[in-house]
Amino acid sequence: MNTTERLPNWLKKRAMLSPHRPAVEFEGKVLTFRDLDLQAEQMAAKLATQNLKRGDSCAVLIRNHKDSVIIIHALFYLGVKIVMLNTRLTAAELIWQLCDSEAKLLLSEQTFFEKINEIQSSMQELPIIEKEALASISGVEGVPILEEFDLSDTATIMYTSGTTGNPKGVIQTFGNHWWSAIGSVLNLGLTEQDSWYCAVPIFHISGLSIFMRNVIYGMKVVLVEKFNEAEANQMIIENGVTIISVVTAMLNRMLTNLGGKRYPDSFRCMLLGGGPAPKHMLLECKEKGIPVYQTYGMTETSSQIVTLSPEDSLQKIGSAGKALFPSQLRIEKDGMEAEPNQPGEIVVKGPNVTEGYLNRKEATGETIKNGWLYTGDIGYVDEEGFLFVMDRRSDLIISGGENVYPAEIEAVVGSHPSVFEVGVTGLSDEAWGQIAVAFVVGKPGHVLTEQEIIEHCLTRLASYKVPKRIIFYEELPRNASNKLLRRELRKRLED
Ligand code: ATP
Ligand code: MG
Repeated sequence: MNTTERLPNWLKKRAMLSPHRPAVEFEGKVLTFRDLDLQAEQMAAKLATQNLKRGDSCAVLIRNHKDSVIIIHALFYLGVKIVMLNTRLTAAELIWQLCDSEAKLLLSEQTFFEKINEIQSSMQELPIIEKEALASISGVEGVPILEEFDLSDTATIMYTSGTTGNPKGVIQTFGNHWWSAIGSVLNLGLTEQDSWYCAVPIFHISGLSIFMRNVIYGMKVVLVEKFNEAEANQMIIENGVTIISVVTAMLNRMLTNLGGKRYPDSFRCMLLGGGPAPKHMLLECKEKGIPVYQTYGMTETSSQIVTLSPEDSLQKIGSAGKALFPSQLRIEKDGMEAEPNQPGEIVVKGPNVTEGYLNRKEATGETIKNGWLYTGDIGYVDEEGFLFVMDRRSDLIISGGENVYPAEIEAVVGSHPSVFEVGVTGLSDEAWGQIAVAFVVGKPGHVLTEQEIIEHCLTRLASYKVPKRIIFYEELPRNASNKLLRRELRKRLED
């Protein structure tokens, strides 16, 4: 975004406006916005001893923890760009991102000592500090705190999940985060009771964006280190959580755990994104009165860009909604805007969309053209302007000249009562070009046969979409963001 607009430092402003409001709840303890500001300031003073200059990049390898929230604000206070590292990456993957981002410092914590040691031995020049070591350091007195955020400045550098290939570093400005938060609230609204449950990783945009909304809206966030379905359900039923961000695998577990129980009316939004949402799951939610809002977004759009609105959430099951207020959406086919209901590439634009990838001029040029971002995802828009996301272009299977979308097959196979989860990919085939193969994980205690699954599909899918082979698996390959790695399935097939 090409603006030089400035806003007051978000947490400082929030702490001035509503100092006593609950800001972050973690392990049963609540920090107010004033607490958060004071602790961020102390942390900034300590971090100032680490040779960080305004404009430098600092990489963080930190868990979901209240200290991590404080660290993020402290780095913003110092005007230091934050490289958000995924804690589930291997040391080799982390080293690659540390080099690529040219981080001046790695800030981590003792839990990750093994990875830290490995990183340190191959990057001897890189200063590394653990947050536990900072506790005993006395801070620099009178360290200057950024009073204003320039919306065109880089706030964070976040790598994509690496589902389709190598992760790319996405530049996210303060303006991107600001507009993402505004677009979300203009759609979902805000009440004084709101309490957003964050069990998604804060190193990922799904989690980090909750903390941007936290200070911009003055809204409470309940943070947990790790997702647990029983705990998440309990927080909704008994502890006043009104909104939760989930991906399909989390929702699947929550539904199983919920059984016949219901959520209270105060629970107003199950925000479901990150990947395809199988229709049977959405219907189950409708039956149970669960307000699911499908949302579509990516690291490059600083979280949601298309989301269902409250009034459409029950009518438009399966749709990801319309582009949020500040954003635009169109479907392109062969360089032209597609007709309604005609599939094509999803192309988006808006002030929440990145300017590009770090150090990747070519990839940036291929992805962003005339201010529009080509997502690599395929979908269509119906006559009323609702987006239906079909799949990633790179995962498309072409079988006998017909386009087959793995997500559609996964949704059908996944609706079988004995299937826990499923991944579909294409295999080269002499007769058909490609055929669909399903990798299935059964529910514990259920007996499943290949024939049973194929019969289940035959009544629900056109025959060219029915998987030709079913392979039973214990567990599906997922990346560090818990996304299904279909390219890994392909590799296993080829081997
Ligand atoms: P990489 O770009 O490195 O391959 P990634 O695309 O998985 O990784 P993210 O930015 O975390 O990295 O994920 C965004 C992608 O997730 C989208 O481009 C889309 O493919 C998928 N996605 C997000 N929301 C939805 C949705 N509602 N329905 C289907 N797919 C979705
Ligand atoms: Mg992507």
